[in-house]
Amino acid sequence: MQLAELVRRRMPSVEMVRFVNSGTEATMAAVRLARAATKRDVILKFVGCYHGHGDSFLVKAGSGVATLGLPDSPGVPGALASLTVTVPFNDVAAVEDVFRQRPQQIAAVIVEPYVGNAGFIAPDAEFHPALRALCDRTGALLIFDEVMTGFRVAPGGAQERLGVRPDLTTLGKIIGGGMPVGAYGGRADLMRLIAPEGPVYQAGTLSGNPVAMAAGLATLGETSRPGFYETLEERTARLVAGIGDAARRHGVPVTVGHAGSLWGVYFTAGPVRDFAQAQRSDTALFARWHGAALERGVFLAPSAFEAGFVSSAHTDADIAHTVTALDAALAQALGR
Ligand SMILES: *Cc1c(COP(=O)(O)O)cnc(C)c1O
Repeated sequence: MQLAELVRRRMPSVEMVRFVNSGTEATMAAVRLARAATKRDVILKFVGCYHGHGDSFLVKAGSGVATLGLPDSPGVPGALASLTVTVPFNDVAAVEDVFRQRPQQIAAVIVEPYVGNAGFIAPDAEFHPALRALCDRTGALLIFDEVMTGFRVAPGGAQERLGVRPDLTTLGKIIGGGMPVGAYGGRADLMRLIAPEGPVYQAGTLSGNPVAMAAGLATLGETSRPGFYETLEERTARLVAGIGDAARRHGVPVTVGHAGSLWGVYFTAGPVRDFAQAQRSDTALFARWHGAALERGVFLAPSAFEAGFVSSAHTDADIAHTVTALDAALAQALGR
């Protein structure tokens, strides 16, 4: 109840919220709700975006799926996978094509507003407003999967930063402060369709358990301190700028990006606007860099297709030390 109020205050689009136990549960429930509300079956997702391991989402997914190079997962029935249409991130024309080819069939567009499961990819300024307009015109729902970006890129998540109001939002990770929590919420007229008030079934024995709720409350409380997000963003900016400078000094093509404390680096000249461009980055160099960084006590995410996070526990000195260590690690990775 208290945590629900906090979430609602931070994210005004979330008029009602339901707690679950993971991000995967949140996205599965949100899609079931979207299908029930629209009486349509097809969902549109973006290549390289990861929405948990629900069957419908293991189609051209990011995160570990991308790292392992799995196009799709065995065990997902083809009939179900055929209801998930994928297009490149940032490609409005491709989204318009899908809506043209499958009129009245798209239940929802689900998107990581900033992609964090294919490395870090920022949206073009017009991308999310265009998705919003397309959904409004066609009756599809817009789902922001903020499991990663929620309470990380801004106090009110990516939707606050981007100024776009989704119909449904999924949350996880930060909202549980390390405990297993997920949540989904959004328009009250949609959320009222969920059982017991409505006919769309979703339940969970451990959902909303007091330990996890307390962890979430404590975490969101910490992030509510004045200047919390400003400090975090400033340190993250310094980290990615330091990595970018080091790469350029070593003559390595590089693209860095961040939003709030979410960041990523690709060894390619860029720009990186979608997963295909991310895949053109030098992943072998990234792997050697990762190993050399480990030897220096810096534990990067072990794949060019995973984003990094700066924590409020990281001090200015930690950032400076990390930049120096990553510079040396890059020299070693290049055999210098
Ligand atoms: C991690 C993640 C999920 C899945 O959450 P789990 O708690 O691991 O099930 C879903 N969507 C996004 C964007 C994620 O980053």
